[in-house]
Amino acid sequence: MKSFSNSKCQSFLFLLLAFFSFSVFNTAQAQQSKKVQDLLKLEEGQYFADRDSAYLDPYYGLKKLIYGNRRFAENKAIRPRQTDADLKNNELGQKPFATIIGCADSRVPNEIIFDQGVGDLFITRTAGQVMAEASYGTIEYATEVLNTRLIVVLGHESCGAVQAAMKLPENPPGHVVTLINAIKPASLYAKENKGTPSETLDLAVRENVRQQVKLLRGLEPVLSRRFDKGEVLIVGAVYNLHSGMVEFLEETVETLAKFSDDKQMTKKSK
Ligand SMILES: [Zn+2]
Repeated sequence: MKSFSNSKCQSFLFLLLAFFSFSVFNTAQAQQSKKVQDLLKLEEGQYFADRDSAYLDPYYGLKKLIYGNRRFAENKAIRPRQTDADLKNNELGQKPFATIIGCADSRVPNEIIFDQGVGDLFITRTAGQVMAEASYGTIEYATEVLNTRLIVVLGHESCGAVQAAMKLPENPPGHVVTLINAIKPASLYAKENKGTPSETLDLAVRENVRQQVKLLRGLEPVLSRRFDKGEVLIVGAVYNLHSGMVEFLEETVETLAKFSDDKQMTKKSK
């Protein structure tokens, strides 16, 4: 009788575990919209993308970030390219496949959440991923000198800098005013839409990312030219602190897909 109970108990636990794994798997798979999944040809149960291809093709680079984040969020991180041999391989130069413009928040460590290694990501981080002259120069360096073709603006939920901007303080301390002023347009946009405080904050976070993507696409003289020629992809994403998943914003990826199609059509017509 006892063994029967144990066996029933084990079966129940197994079913519970299977259901939980399935739910986590599906949540992870569903994180990207269907359009983004189709564009990037994301495959269910796939966790790896080739490093060299990611450097040559920014769409493939995007795919690599998504698969790496999938590993991280599903507790399957492999922490690639971090051995002594990898350090030696990087001594002579670097070929990062993505530039990340992220928030300085300590809970969003880029290499960890994308499960990437040494030499993979070129990163600039400030609160609210607010950019200034030095950030622009950093991104342009990656584009012009290192030939990195994928640029990702990475915001995150519950961003303290965006929260601060939502309050529109009259006298923020020291240089914090720079951050508040830069995020202000996104916070005002979010406030115009009715919603709960957390919905409004989420909207401001996303709008801030969208505006920063737009800013970089039009940034003269380097990025705007590169973007217009279809030589770089500039996309936006938001990291979920709870699930560990990064969602690439469909509207920023979609625009690029259309652009890519136009570019191919131009090529074909020649
Ligand atoms: Zn933040």
